Amino acid sequence: MIKGRVIKGVTSKYWVDTEAGVKVCAARGKLKQEGNILIGDFVEISAEKDGFVIEKVLPRKNSLIRPYVSNIDICFIVIAPVPAPDFMLVDKIIINAIANDIQPVLVLNKEDLTDSEFKDTVLADYTGVVEIIVTSAKTGDGVDSLLKFAAGRVSCLAGQSAVGKSSLLNAILGDESQATGGLSAKIERGKHTTRQSQIIKIGNTSIIDTCGFSMLEFPLEFKPDELVGFYDEYSEYAIHCKFRTGCTHIAEPDCMVKQAVAEGRLSKNRYDRYVALYLELKDKWRKRYD
Ligand code: GDP
Ligand code: ZN
Repeated sequence: MIKGRVIKGVTSKYWVDTEAGVKVCAARGKLKQEGNILIGDFVEISAEKDGFVIEKVLPRKNSLIRPYVSNIDICFIVIAPVPAPDFMLVDKIIINAIANDIQPVLVLNKEDLTDSEFKDTVLADYTGVVEIIVTSAKTGDGVDSLLKFAAGRVSCLAGQSAVGKSSLLNAILGDESQATGGLSAKIERGKHTTRQSQIIKIGNTSIIDTCGFSMLEFPLEFKPDELVGFYDEYSEYAIHCKFRTGCTHIAEPDCMVKQAVAEGRLSKNRYDRYVALYLELKDKWRKRYD
């Protein structure tokens, strides 16, 4: 049995990266059904007379839908001054990443178009929440920091359309192809064609050219009171709230999170979005059986 990782799949054929190179494989039995083998899966394959077959999918650390991918370590959330960010979407992606045991990293791209007011707002809202990288796919600035984070791990790029996800990927590949004198593939992301996602490997670094996080709805079973658990920056204040772990930091008296927001020690913007999201989830929870 040979172990490997699925890096690409096209109509019942899978490309599996193994120590002995990439093998094109078929799938055995039940594994043929859609959704049973995901890009990113670790698998065991065996050699048959007429080719290789995937025998088994090893347990997954996590998996995403749209696209179907698994075993992701990092999700780069890309924003830019244009198009104007939807910070609620950013917050939702952060929560979903954490819930899936994926490290969220915020990438402020198009630095060459960024004024200091915009940059300051982003830094004020997210410093201490997630790691922040500032890049310009156009000038290449910061692309090396992005690569440093990605090194040796599997990552994907999430974010609104036109923030520069493909451009960043191309900047990464361009960098590498110059360094290695090899890779020259460019990523074409057809706007009107559906494509299979695939893992792009640069040495031991893998980047998936799409991410399942661009549009987000929380699952119906997400309990509103669980939300606060995803706001790590609130925890040091929450222990001093009158109702401690029971405090939602919305309407309770003697709430230290609200006080920290009022005193400017926590971001008011992010707090306001937290309240809006909490109310949205509460409404959804109430109507879950309708
Ligand atoms: P995607 O939809 O997120 O993949 O975005 P694209 O990579 O297609 O980029 C959208 C547009 O923004 C293109 O016209 C890019 O040339 C441009 N763009 C991407 N990154 C930058 C950047 O860092 N600076 C500037 N000025 N333009 C950029
Ligand atoms: Zn509180």
